[in-house]
Amino acid sequence: MACAGVVATKIHKEKTMADSNFIDYVKIHCRSGKGGAGSRHFYRAKYVPKGGPDGGDGGRGGHIILRGDAQMWTLLPLKYNRHMFAGNGQSGTGGRSTGKDGDDVIINVPCGTVVFDAETGEFLAEVNGPGEEVKLLRGGRGGLGNWHFKSPTNRTPRYAQPGEPAIERTVILELKLLADVGLVGFPNAGKSTLLSAISAARPKIADYPFTTMEPQLGIVGYRDNLSFVMADIPGIIEGASEGKGLGLRFLRHIERNAVLLFMVPADADDITEQYHILLRELERFNPQLMDKHRILAVSKSDMLDDELKDAIAETLPEDVPHVFISAVTGQGIDELKDVLWAAVTDVNNQIATPSITHRPLDGHHRVREEDEFIFDTPDMPAETDEDFDEDFDDSGEWDDDFFDPGFDPEKFVPDADD
Ligand code: GDP
Ligand code: MG
Repeated sequence: MACAGVVATKIHKEKTMADSNFIDYVKIHCRSGKGGAGSRHFYRAKYVPKGGPDGGDGGRGGHIILRGDAQMWTLLPLKYNRHMFAGNGQSGTGGRSTGKDGDDVIINVPCGTVVFDAETGEFLAEVNGPGEEVKLLRGGRGGLGNWHFKSPTNRTPRYAQPGEPAIERTVILELKLLADVGLVGFPNAGKSTLLSAISAARPKIADYPFTTMEPQLGIVGYRDNLSFVMADIPGIIEGASEGKGLGLRFLRHIERNAVLLFMVPADADDITEQYHILLRELERFNPQLMDKHRILAVSKSDMLDDELKDAIAETLPEDVPHVFISAVTGQGIDELKDVLWAAVTDVNNQIATPSITHRPLDGHHRVREEDEFIFDTPDMPAETDEDFDEDFDDSGEWDDDFFDPGFDPEKFVPDADD
């Protein structure tokens, strides 16, 4: 990674760690529950000399489940709760009693959360809608009790299956904001100013680059109670897709926007060229971004008179609709809203979730300071064979003639577990 990128990332950290609750990246350690052991129990009762095996199955271990929560907009709560352990399944007991299933752990995450394996960077899953559930780690299946294993040749099976082991995994959760319109532009293009002018969001505004250190969402009111969501993303600079500046980290927030609003200031030397540089950056980052609907806004148009505007309009690219706007005087803002609304509501521009393929994380995602946390293991019931053995009857007085005529071990199929 280029040096400039490292510096920029550090600046970002210092600023956001101190004054921000917006967390779009967190690493957590998860473990599903292990399956309970099957029981090796034999039926015992007065006047029933050969009760036969009746050890029940072990319970299923708890799953680790992610669930989309529309009320959440940051991964912050997970930052303070980075160890997720589901409950273990209980062992089966005599009388063919199945052990209790372990408790699932449900992790609420904001919609737009993407999950990667922390070791390999591989994409694992994503949660997009409210209430949507993704089973991140499956709990271990419970072992079968010994009564499943009786057969004409072995009427007193003294074995039962152990439960399936737990699965342990460290994952990285990343948040992609789900905005309808993403603002794309170099620093100082006037993106934050526009967002504060047309929505209730109050982003920081200053005429030096990178004033926007975290993405800002604004709800833009449109006509009669209609609205759409617009996201101001920290300025991308040339080379952002190679890790320069803040761009790379934030570019992913616009992967999902249905519509991209490109913004180039009126006083730029060559508006068309700047537009093309921005376009190339996006394409390098993810070529699928090229499928999105684009609109070009020439910002700070209060600096232009009508003659200049006409002259500039002649030179603008023809394949993208353009609007001259000024967030300061309000000119062109209504027209811009009309154009954006038409684009956002156009069925062809609806966010088609599967259209974006998530690239695996690259190496530098794994060396971030925020990752450093200690793997302390909270109290877990120690692994023991006691549950397993206490049901085991060793008296050995079994008559080999005993067997269940209805049971055919060849045809036995264990219950399919979810
Ligand atoms: P961002 O980096 O794209 O978010 O840009 P900002 O919104 O922070 O604006 C950068 C500078 O441009 C600030 O000094 C703003 O006051 C100025 N600016 C933004 N919009 C306008 C506009 O419509 N007209 C004029 N004249 N200046 C603007
Ligand atoms: Mg800004």
